[in-house]
Amino acid sequence: MRENNADIVIIGASHAGGEVGFRLRQGGFAGSIALLGAEAYLPYQRPPLSKAFLAGEVSAEALLIRPAAAYEKANINWHPSTLVTAIDRVAHRLTLAPEQHFTYGKLILATGGRARTLPLPGAGLAGIHTLRSIADVEALRADFVPGQRLVIVGAGYIGLEVAAVAVKQGLDVEIVEFAPRALARVAGPELSAFYEAVHRKAGVRFRFNTGVDGFTGEAGRVQAVRCADGTVLPADLVLVAAGLVPNVELAQGAGLAVGNGIVVDEFCRTSDPDILAIGDCTEFPLPFLGKRVRLESVPNAQEQARVAASVLAGAPSAYNAVPWFWSDQYDRKLQSVGLSQGYDQVVMRPPRTPEGFIAFYLREGRVIAADCVNAIAEFGAAKKLVAEKTVVDPTLLADPEIDLKSLLLAKA
Ligand code: FAD
Repeated sequence: MRENNADIVIIGASHAGGEVGFRLRQGGFAGSIALLGAEAYLPYQRPPLSKAFLAGEVSAEALLIRPAAAYEKANINWHPSTLVTAIDRVAHRLTLAPEQHFTYGKLILATGGRARTLPLPGAGLAGIHTLRSIADVEALRADFVPGQRLVIVGAGYIGLEVAAVAVKQGLDVEIVEFAPRALARVAGPELSAFYEAVHRKAGVRFRFNTGVDGFTGEAGRVQAVRCADGTVLPADLVLVAAGLVPNVELAQGAGLAVGNGIVVDEFCRTSDPDILAIGDCTEFPLPFLGKRVRLESVPNAQEQARVAASVLAGAPSAYNAVPWFWSDQYDRKLQSVGLSQGYDQVVMRPPRTPEGFIAFYLREGRVIAADCVNAIAEFGAAKKLVAEKTVVDPTLLADPEIDLKSLLLAKA
């Protein structure tokens, strides 16, 4: 039986887990750090998976957030292809593969999430894909042949980003979406309409207001998608882009509180004083919104890594960030900040750049969110307007001749 140990053990080697190790070292932590990850790769950038990596424009090596030498230098002991299956909180002991154990002083759960699969007839047929990892993209790319019919289930960011790459590569693309519009869960109708138009112009077809009932195939391979409205869509390959399921089972099995993620406070502390949790797998109080949320974004993973490291270094510094996110489709860069739910007014700011605009979302006269399309130069100021929930005159906000920074200065 093999036994290993470290003062701090991190489970999950990705955006959150990778970052927290370096943050600990920057804060002066001198004890041993082990980074256990189920994947075979050092922490890598997931955002390019549905963009440049899928398009074949960058290699897997280029996705690494830091090179192997950086972990060696920081003395962070990375254990690849290591799946943790159980936590014994009393003994401070993890079970890895059978006959292998790891003991910890403090534990950080950074287990992220996995792509949601659909438990429908035919879901196991070859040619049906999900997208979360390098391995997923490699499998999907192998099926990317010009002229093939790709059906994407779900018009969220990942579905749309894949559609953009696929249609550019000559695939025939149709997106099936349960909601009445694209990006319905995360964006206002104005942004949805804009992206739908961009995709339609590129040749992508949408089928809204219908779910998927199942998949049919021949010789074990998918041939069609059966929609709930009775339509049968011929398909050579399918991408199920139906959201993320947080990996909470390990925490749940250990008796930690779990809601819409592993329950933590604003310091990333779970109900066990020796266990913290960070990243996509957590549900936490967001002061900016005044409610508990679970966020799926790189900036959130980084902020929670910062917070957890501050706690373990003995100088706790609470979560203090405004949620933001980006998406690349065709030559449009979207940067979204804040959460628009509950807005009562939309102010459209016309483009300063070709095909660009900003949609500001206001509630009771205050800016609560902004979607910036091809407006990189103005994103910083838009972010500040949102962070400070600035009260603004909508006519000034809509005027591209007015510098957004001046609205910040003008606030009461
Ligand atoms: P994850 O990245 O999910 O990593 C968790 C890791 O933990 C995984 O490697 C997993 O294998 C490992 N793990 C889980 N359980 C165990 C266990 N029991 N034992 C050992 N290891 C375990 N965000 C943006 O901000 N902008 C974007 O444009 C954007 N685009 C995206 C595009 C795609 C295709 C995807 C998939 C995500 C995108 N995201 C984007 C979201 C972003 O990648 C996530 O928010 C981020 O990866 C979260 O990091 P994490 O470390 O919390 O979790």
